[in-house]
Amino acid sequence: MLKSKTLNAFEIFCEEAKQYGFEPKIESGYRSFDRQLLIWNEKVSGKRKVLDEKGSVVNISELSDWELMKTILLWSALPGTSRHEWGTDIDVIDTAAVPEGYEAELTPEESFGVFGAFHKWLDERIECGKSFDFRRVFLPGIGRVQQEPWHLSYVPEAGKIERNFTAENLAERLRAADILLLPEILANLDWILENHVFCYFEK
Ligand SMILES: [Zn+2]
Repeated sequence: MLKSKTLNAFEIFCEEAKQYGFEPKIESGYRSFDRQLLIWNEKVSGKRKVLDEKGSVVNISELSDWELMKTILLWSALPGTSRHEWGTDIDVIDTAAVPEGYEAELTPEESFGVFGAFHKWLDERIECGKSFDFRRVFLPGIGRVQQEPWHLSYVPEAGKIERNFTAENLAERLRAADILLLPEILANLDWILENHVFCYFEK
């Protein structure tokens, strides 16, 4: 569930956005560990598409475990590390800009195209510190997660979780879960945390 403080802050954010003609909506909010685990396992087992940096489908039968894990991590978080599990992070679209019958896909193209005006407004708000404590996390030049300008993190609550996050707790949760590629994950846990988790924490 999304934390109530995150939701309250989002409501205030929406009120402000409406004055500029936008209607922000949470396209994806809370996602449980189990849901993330299902997505992970479906990608490893080939039941769900695995994409490369450019968004093209990868033939996973040609990949080593290391390559497969690295590729999945471009678009999907390792269970236990998704910020959507925290109840503090949301993927936001502007429904005022959605044409009839259009399904938002949350792609970089959309943030220049159909949601371009919303993102431009958001850029300005974040830059001048008027984004109501929401900030973007997955930006170009940081870490290995593909950029996600639509992904907003509610700093006051996310910060608390970041401060309490440890590799030991994560390893324990993963060992207890029925997760595919576990040996590869544990052997590279520090690398994963450095490139996909800790680098996005507030400095
Ligand atoms: Zn997201």
